[in-house]
Amino acid sequence: PVRVRFAPSPTGFLHLGGLRTALYNYIFAKKYQGSFILRLEDTDQTRLVPGAAENIEDMLEWAGIPPDESPRRGGPAGPYQQSQRLELYAQATEALLKTGAAYPCFCSPQRLELLKKEALRNHQTPRYDNRCRNLNQEQVAQKLAKVPKPSIRFRLEKAAPAFQDLVYGWNRHDVASVEGDPVIMKSDGFPTYHLACVVDDHHMGISHVLRGSEWLVSTAKHLLLYRALGWQPPHFAHLPLLLNRDGSKLSKRQGDIFLEHFAADGFLPDSLVDIITNCGSGFAGNQMGRTLPELITQFDLTQITCHSALLDLEKLPEFNRLHLQRLVSSESQRRLLVGKLQALVEEAFGSQLQNRDVLNPVYMERILLLRQGHICRLQDLVSPAYSYLWTRPSVGRAQLDAISEKVDVIAKRVLGLLERSGMTLTQDVLSGELKKLSEGLEGTKHSNVMKLLRVALSGQQAPSSMLGIQR
Ligand code: GLU
Repeated sequence: PVRVRFAPSPTGFLHLGGLRTALYNYIFAKKYQGSFILRLEDTDQTRLVPGAAENIEDMLEWAGIPPDESPRRGGPAGPYQQSQRLELYAQATEALLKTGAAYPCFCSPQRLELLKKEALRNHQTPRYDNRCRNLNQEQVAQKLAKVPKPSIRFRLEKAAPAFQDLVYGWNRHDVASVEGDPVIMKSDGFPTYHLACVVDDHHMGISHVLRGSEWLVSTAKHLLLYRALGWQPPHFAHLPLLLNRDGSKLSKRQGDIFLEHFAADGFLPDSLVDIITNCGSGFAGNQMGRTLPELITQFDLTQITCHSALLDLEKLPEFNRLHLQRLVSSESQRRLLVGKLQALVEEAFGSQLQNRDVLNPVYMERILLLRQGHICRLQDLVSPAYSYLWTRPSVGRAQLDAISEKVDVIAKRVLGLLERSGMTLTQDVLSGELKKLSEGLEGTKHSNVMKLLRVALSGQQAPSSMLGIQR
């Protein structure tokens, strides 16, 4: 069975990069009726951020891609936090020590620091010099007397296995000649990423590892670990980088790539899912406005290319416009939007509301139906340009006089028009009647009558299409 995992470290809240990885895993799982697992890689206890674990799971649910198994939901392969699986890593370490694939390292932090400094001074990449690799039993026993809890390192074999990445193709990375033996178990009993990841992917029955391409070179190390532990490795598919449109790193330039920020700003999860998959590969076609079920149907892992995905967040409002429009056209979704709009209006205008009838769902629904396709976010409807929908505009007499000297005549005739019985006021009827009304006014331009009405009714000098509200 297909079992995939999203394995973030709870060292920060969920952002667009994490969402992208989670999304591809979710889509792949659903495509093949598999399971999507959330595993929290919290072994670096010094880097934990309070609230991050909750935020990650909350935001996956908000995005519409809830995990099937997770810390919160539990599941057959739990626990789903690495800090609660220390026993499994200890067992694996024990097994590796037994076969000699791993060894204790007694080097002090000071020595390691010196090694690093020296390498940097010589413009070399720091690497451990494998000093403890060949200690004999007697030396180990002596050192253990002084340092009872050494860290454990994994002996990197020279012959790194080649593997076929499902995206990047054949890979072989001779880690042993570039890196020193990595620590797999720290002296405090916590494993490092490489060991924990391999042990968990194995015990959780992960069939495919879909993760960012920054982990591609680590895979060689992971495969050596699988081999040393006598385990069958999963398939690997590394996803190309997700970058800003200008090619800069996603998280570096913008601070606001966290999902909760988009949620608070009124962006729909569907638009984020859409824009992220739209800029990446792996789908048949890339039209805008796709929903998760459509994406699952169109997904094809073999179509993922190695090209970086360039995300243009300036297009996000346009994606949101499309998805908002889609929601408005569904009756049940529209009802949900009315509820949200009511809350927004209460929040924005609350005590200023002269007439609480504006909160009436029938009125709100009509506004949604009229403005769909024009607004990008529900929030736009409570922006100043649309405040006339909820409160009476304050318009001074002088403002109206400046448009036409016939304000009183025009007002009287328009009121008369509205009071005339037996007339259905559709848009067409009304605009015809207003045209006639203008023609009956000697020396007054129709455009001025319309402008007067707009200013009097909405307080807006310019049509809303010019206020950056409409697209
Ligand atoms: N904890 C790693 C991260 O934060 C997971 C990498 C992987 O998927 O193996 O990205």
